[in-house]
Amino acid sequence: MRIESPRILAALRDLAVEHRPGASLAELTSLAIGGTTDLLRIREHRHLPALIRLLRTEGIEHRFLGGGTNVLIADGELPWVMLQLTSPQPDVVIEGNSVWVDAAADLGRTVTTCARRNLGGMEGLIGVPGSIGGALRMNAGAYGTEIGKYVREVEVYRAATGENETVRDSAISFEYRHTSFAPADVMLRARLELPSKPYEEILAGIRVCNEKRRSSQPLNQKSAGCIFKNPPGGSAGRMIDGLGLKGFRVGDAMVSDRHANFFVNAGRASCADMLGLIREVRSRVRAAHGCDLEEEVIVWNA
Ligand SMILES: Cc1cc2nc3c(=O)[nH]c(=O)nc-3n(C[C@H](O)[C@H](O)[C@H](O)COP(=O)(O)OP(=O)(O)OC[C@H]3O[C@@H](n4cnc5c(N)ncnc54)[C@H](O)[C@@H]3O)c2cc1C
Repeated sequence: MRIESPRILAALRDLAVEHRPGASLAELTSLAIGGTTDLLRIREHRHLPALIRLLRTEGIEHRFLGGGTNVLIADGELPWVMLQLTSPQPDVVIEGNSVWVDAAADLGRTVTTCARRNLGGMEGLIGVPGSIGGALRMNAGAYGTEIGKYVREVEVYRAATGENETVRDSAISFEYRHTSFAPADVMLRARLELPSKPYEEILAGIRVCNEKRRSSQPLNQKSAGCIFKNPPGGSAGRMIDGLGLKGFRVGDAMVSDRHANFFVNAGRASCADMLGLIREVRSRVRAAHGCDLEEEVIVWNA
C-alpha cells in the first residue's frame, strides 16, 4: 500500500514518523520472503495512539513488525502498511536487578548487556533473534527459559482503549509461545527483574546454549526458526523427521536437513511455496499421527 496523500504525509511528519515508501519485506525478514509496502517507523512511543487513530480514520490497515524473525509475509504489493518502532539510545537501562528495555531493542544484545552487569537468567534466550517486543508477543523461549518469567511490567499501547498504559505482570499470562495481550496491542517497553549472577557463570551458560544451537539448527540458512509449535508432550521436529521429510521441498521452500521443524528458503522461495510446504507437511503428520500441528510462525497472507 502506498501513502501518497500530502495531507497524510504531513500528519506523519508531525508525529515524527519516518516514512519509507515501497519497503521490501523480503529484506526485513529472516525468511527473506515478503512483498512491498510503505514502512512507518515510529520514533516516539507517545505518538503511537495518534498514529493509529490517523490510520483508522483514513481507512489504512496496518501490521506491526519487530525484528521480522517469526513472520511469513505474502508476496506482491501488500494491502496494509507496516509499522515498526525505532530504538532510543540507550535502549537498556539497568537499576539494581531491574532492567528497563525498549521493545525495539535486540533480544540477544539485551542478554549480553545484562550479563556484563552480572544479571543472568536469560542465557537460554541468547540465540533467539529478533526484538524484545517480538519476544514479549511470542513469549520467546529456549532451553528451559522463557522471557515471561522475568517480566514485571510492560508499557503497552492498548487497542481496547486506544491509549498507552503500564500493565503489571499479575495481569499478563505468559504461555507456550503465546501471551494474553490482545492481537492489536503493541508492546513499547518492559521492566524485567533478573537474578544476580557472576559474569563468568552467565558466559559459560551462554556458550553451552550457543553450541547446542550451532550443532542442531541451520543457522546459516534463511528461516523463521520452528515453523510449528510442539504438540502437548510431543516434538513436531521428531514427527516430521520420522516421516523422512528432511530435505522435502515445494519450490524453493525446504524442510531443513538439519532440523525438521525449521523450514528454509533455499533460494527464491515465495510465500506460496512456503505455505504449500506447511500444508503438505501438516497433512502428512495428520495422516500418520492424527495430530494437527499449529503454526508457530505468524502468517500474514494478505
Ligand atoms: C534461527 C532462528 C532461531 C529461532 N529460535 C527460537 C527459539 O529458540 N525460541 C523462540 O521462541 N523463537 C525462536 N525463533 C523465532 C523468533 O526469533 C522469535 O519468535 C522472536 O521472539 C520474534 O521476535 P521478532 O522481533 O523478530 O518478531 P517479528 O517476527 O517481527 O514478529 C512476530 C510477532 O510479534 C509481533 N510483534 C513484534 N513486535 C511487537 C511489539 N512491539 N508489540 C506487539 N507485537 C509485536 C508481530 O506483530 C508478530 O505478530 C527463532 C527464529 C530464527 C530465525
